[in-house]
Amino acid sequence: MSKVKQCQSCGIPLDKKTPNGTEKDGSLSEKYCIHCYQNGEWTMDLGFDDMYDYNLKRFKASDMNRVSKFFLKKMYTKKFMSKLDRWRA
Ligand SMILES: [Zn+2]
Repeated sequence: MSKVKQCQSCGIPLDKKTPNGTEKDGSLSEKYCIHCYQNGEWTMDLGFDDMYDYNLKRFKASDMNRVSKFFLKKMYTKKFMSKLDRWRA
């Protein structure tokens, strides 16, 4: 399996600004970001729709430029999010 570069819960790219989450033993999660997953648990126990709304707000509030935000609005759909590992089951 190739390394996942996108959080499989919220879909945000994993990079310096959005580090990986952590497992119970303190190791880094390969799948999820620090906002979604810490110490082996979800930081927020939200359902799909609530999580989507929350993520959208968070992305809009981040320091992305306006072009990125424009694309995000087009790309970041529920369909996109439903394909991530956390929501696929
Ligand atoms: Zn995430």
